[in-house]
Amino acid sequence: MKTKSLKKDKVNIITLGCSKNTVDSEVLLSQLQANQVQAFHQREKDDCNVIINNTCGFIDNAKQESIDTILNYAEAKSAGEIDKLYVTGCLSHRYKDELQVEIPEVDAWFGRMELAQILKRFNADYKHELVGERMLSTPAHFAYLKISEGCNRTCSFCAIPLMRGQHISRSIEDLVKEAKYLAGIGVKEIMLIAQELTYYGLDIYKRRALADLLYALNEVEGIEWIRLHYAYPSKFPMDVLEAVQNCKHVCKYLDMPLQHASDNMLQAMNRQITRAETEELVTAIRSAVPGIAIRTTMLVGFPGETDADIDILCDFIRKMRFDRLGVFTYSHEEGTSGFNLTDDVPAEEKAARALRVMEVQEEISMEINQSKVGQTFRVLIDRLEGGYFIGRTEYDSPEVDNEVLIDAQAHYVRVGDFVTAQIVRAEAFDLYAEPV
Ligand code: SF4
Repeated sequence: MKTKSLKKDKVNIITLGCSKNTVDSEVLLSQLQANQVQAFHQREKDDCNVIINNTCGFIDNAKQESIDTILNYAEAKSAGEIDKLYVTGCLSHRYKDELQVEIPEVDAWFGRMELAQILKRFNADYKHELVGERMLSTPAHFAYLKISEGCNRTCSFCAIPLMRGQHISRSIEDLVKEAKYLAGIGVKEIMLIAQELTYYGLDIYKRRALADLLYALNEVEGIEWIRLHYAYPSKFPMDVLEAVQNCKHVCKYLDMPLQHASDNMLQAMNRQITRAETEELVTAIRSAVPGIAIRTTMLVGFPGETDADIDILCDFIRKMRFDRLGVFTYSHEEGTSGFNLTDDVPAEEKAARALRVMEVQEEISMEINQSKVGQTFRVLIDRLEGGYFIGRTEYDSPEVDNEVLIDAQAHYVRVGDFVTAQIVRAEAFDLYAEPV
């Protein structure tokens, strides 16, 4: 079918990358709809004539996925299947000068802070009254709450500050207002996200204020679970742990990427912390909040990394026994200080090291999950899939952690509800349960 020109534009927003990008797309969607522009997010039906691609520019795989997605829509435009193609997000922010030459089919490239410019393309205005409100793209019972933008840290492998800029915290008032709005539309769980969560408040309050934010959000009626993501280990604000312990609705869960455990690598990565200090911190967190689940992320293959460094990392993981762990392979990113080093670990070796780390973690995760058999947990039901109702305990975040599977042949529970369930079987990364 030639040319899809419609009387009124029909817009489809395609989001790639992290949960912060998801929130940006949700805000864009609300602004477009509030301006009577017909707009959708990740619409599967192929009936839109305008595509807005919100891209990721973090590491090589993510960049490639973004470029492939843009090229797909550029082809669709050349074939007359869509009328307009706009690109925004981190990849566009970082590379638009080069990309606009390489992919001329794109009608306009936008940097990250150019929401108003995107709206102008639809003769739409930025509606300030909508601040704190957005159309959710997540299941109705959970949402991401972005507490700040940007990062002031200088980890030598990381290009995020180049794309997201310096750290800017949102006020506690604004965040409480947004949490109330989310509770008002049925959200029960909020994931607090940022580039660097523990830096919260240092700019606007001249002190670390994450604990204050937790006490304030804990009072928001209807929000049952508040979850912490992207904490930074160095100079960790210990008062946050008191808040986690004292606040009924703050999950005993902490996501804190550590990246490595070899002091050589921690120094080369400019992480401003040593292995010994990290162990001390993890021990302090576990004694301050007994039973807390700690999720972390490691990065392997950084320039100069040796087999001995990986031995140290695996030894550390065995000793610390994290509840949840993910691993990335190093991506040589121009503009980072790591780019001045030689990317001397071959890609296959990077992949082999990542696999080795995950094999260590799989054993630990299996043992931890086995120990949960017979125990009873509060489970939030996310969806029905493959004959199972699938949910999570307070120790598991959406999309990244373990899930709890309840046989849908034998039991009926409602998506979006909390149920009490007993664990009857465990696998390395999933638990099977029955409602009690
Ligand atoms: S704290 Fe995170 S976002 Fe900031 S520079 Fe380090 S890795 Fe990047």
